[in-house]
Amino acid sequence: MADAGEFGLIARYFTRPTPSALLGPGDDCALLVPTPGKVLAVTTDMLVAGVHFLPDTDPERLGWKSLAVNLSDLAAMGATARWVTLAGALPAADEAWLAAFARGFFACAEAHGVELVGGDTTAGPLNLCVTALGEIEPDQALRRSGAQVGDEVWVSGRPGLAALGLAHLQGRVSLPEPWPRLCLAALEKPRPRLALGAALRSVAHAAIDISDGMLADLGHLARASGLAATLHLVQLPQLRELAGSGARYDADLRRLALECQLSGGDDYELLFTAARGQHNRIAEIAAELELPLWCIGEMSAGTPGAVQVLDPDGKPVEFARRGYEHFQAAVPDQAPHAHG
Ligand code: ADP
Ligand code: MG
Repeated sequence: MADAGEFGLIARYFTRPTPSALLGPGDDCALLVPTPGKVLAVTTDMLVAGVHFLPDTDPERLGWKSLAVNLSDLAAMGATARWVTLAGALPAADEAWLAAFARGFFACAEAHGVELVGGDTTAGPLNLCVTALGEIEPDQALRRSGAQVGDEVWVSGRPGLAALGLAHLQGRVSLPEPWPRLCLAALEKPRPRLALGAALRSVAHAAIDISDGMLADLGHLARASGLAATLHLVQLPQLRELAGSGARYDADLRRLALECQLSGGDDYELLFTAARGQHNRIAEIAAELELPLWCIGEMSAGTPGAVQVLDPDGKPVEFARRGYEHFQAAVPDQAPHAHG
């Protein structure tokens, strides 16, 4: 009979060949050989049941996502992803659940060229913690603090879909077809933008991945750079196009879509700034990667971290909820209103 204990589970579900490591899982430590001349980019993200995902989330998708959110941080730094470790607390040794989780995790690992080199497995409330290690030339890392006055602000993909998907799952909205498929894919199977991060190495000044919400994360980047930012609503990606011409897109859905776009988290798109002179190069990168990139605003001197949103007439718009923060009392969701 198969060993259902900790070591049997690790051997069965989490031990795969690791040709890029000197030593992979099984010893006291993994042994990794960094590429000479590069520095390690190291990031950790924890996914807690009930906080970051619904406890009944499909385990295969959870496996994908627990790795993808970490690779997204490497992407936002411009790093090449190399190795990962996985620490998991599991309420039970549910083998069907573990097999599905491992399937999703390794699918994401293989898709992005990373190897699982170690971890920790314990009993406890469901909690998954991944550490990802990447490599980059020290002077090419895309820090949050590198934005310059006059930089254009860009965003990839269609931020907001993940938050719309969550609203749909929670029954706060009933999305018409074909939105549910698109939004749930964005929520449950985010694509870390590693190729984009790599392409931006000598192009962008600063970058961040959108995990807390576009306004909040742009605010983080702006504060780190000691600058203010302006965002133009008319330049945001139009989510409406995704709905197709026949689908319902009434005022309520429009308002929710905008709110999700600006304040929803969990998209793991990249937000970055670059000099105006790079505008055409960035358009080329979008075509090369077949990934839409949108120029949505600009950086300016001003209160560090301040983000101003302008409506189509150039008037400032106020939003009550900027993004998700742990340990903060919930602020009621509020629809955008014109600022007089
Ligand atoms: P130690 O007691 O030395 O910390 P562990 O008993 O926790 O070692 O783990 C034994 C080996 O299995 C280690 O090499 C560790 O990296 C690996 N390991 C444990 N859990 C996982 C996991 N979920 N995925 C990959 N490797 C794991
Ligand atoms: Mg251990």
